Amino acid sequence: MNTKTLRDVDVQGKRVLMRVDFNVPVKEGKIKDDTRIVGALPSIQYVIEHGGRLILMSHMGRPDEKGITPDTTMKIVADALAAKLGRPVAFAADCAAADAEVAALKDGDVLVLENTRYHKEEQAKRKQKDGEDEATFKAAKKALKEEQRKLAEKLASYGDVYVNDAFGTAHRAHASTAVVTEFMKAKGAPCVAGFLMEKEIEYLGNAVENPVRPFAAILGGAKVSDKLAVVKNLLGKVDTLVIGGGMAYTFLKAQGHAIGGSLCEDDQLDYAREMMALAKERGVQFLLPVDSVAADKFDPEANTQIVGEDVPDGWMGLDIGPKSIELFSNAVKTAKTVVWNGPMGCFEMEKFAAGTFGVAAAVAEVKANGGTSIIGGGDSVSAVKKSGLAEKMSHISTGGGASLEYLEGKVLPGVAALDQK
Ligand code: AMP
Repeated sequence: MNTKTLRDVDVQGKRVLMRVDFNVPVKEGKIKDDTRIVGALPSIQYVIEHGGRLILMSHMGRPDEKGITPDTTMKIVADALAAKLGRPVAFAADCAAADAEVAALKDGDVLVLENTRYHKEEQAKRKQKDGEDEATFKAAKKALKEEQRKLAEKLASYGDVYVNDAFGTAHRAHASTAVVTEFMKAKGAPCVAGFLMEKEIEYLGNAVENPVRPFAAILGGAKVSDKLAVVKNLLGKVDTLVIGGGMAYTFLKAQGHAIGGSLCEDDQLDYAREMMALAKERGVQFLLPVDSVAADKFDPEANTQIVGEDVPDGWMGLDIGPKSIELFSNAVKTAKTVVWNGPMGCFEMEKFAAGTFGVAAAVAEVKANGGTSIIGGGDSVSAVKKSGLAEKMSHISTGGGASLEYLEGKVLPGVAALDQK
């Protein structure tokens, strides 16, 4: 990896400003899943052990939509972190007014700043309001961007070193993820990746840029339009592309099959045909389901039947069928690199989970056979966890959106802003 990391900087006695992904699910003041806090611990402990003064910042939830709520305060995380580290963790109640708390830090101390998204300029998102003219909208957006730069400058003033360990938001150019680096660099301060970020870039970067072949990608989930650019980019890289889940029916319809009431994006039919032609041209093995578990309604108690490539009227395909599981599994388990994003069916309902779990079992064989398997965030992560096979995967990405953009071949602003070796 060419991006500099924490290992490349001296943090002793320095104020280390670190963007982490502490966007944990919280309900009634309690953290429901602390995976993200645990994921940040290696970088946090490294700074503490090397005598840095650590300032942690993150967003949590969507306070822009819901306002400030007791379930989005970073105080909950600061307390949980203190318990994990077995030492006190200080807290600053406003990320843009934390000078006193930062100044009080001693070597090895840790401070958590309040939710960065309590300031709307962190994201600086602004949609055109109904009836708002173009000029007013543009002026408002420009003013918000200026505010964003001010917030970034303030955050930068706290640190001597900037570390980004938040892969989950690396695809966003926000004040704390990207704009801040401009002000850090202006004062000659290093901007480096944390260890979690390093791991993500190494796994996803190697898979996409330098895969050990055969390289297979599995895409699923509900929407084709979410994964348009991913399909196109991967067709230039993979040996095999497997498409299952709801998105497969648009491709099946484009081939002339009946799909009944299955999910379909009719405006993507031409795109689907184009992609299948491209796969042929590039010699990529392109696999679609050859059978489905069809249901008479979208319901856990629906009547079901196994159908072939055609789904009859009055039925909808909610999972891939047994022949498809076999076909996909055989194509996947012999690969040396596998990237998976999106479930093969509505795995949340027991009757439609076999496809996803069957493919998960095949992906789990890849690592056992000396290959690399990468689960690309979001629903596929919950599916793999639910299948009990998470330990058998080489890497489970912490960023759904970010990993998808990586697979699209996009440069992530949060990564691009870091120093290169
Ligand atoms: P996505 O966010 O696009 O990755 O989609 C994930 C969702 O797709 C999951 O909640 C699945 O239940 C859903 N899904 C997968 N296969 C199907 C299908 N055949 N029909 C409808 N929804 C599906």
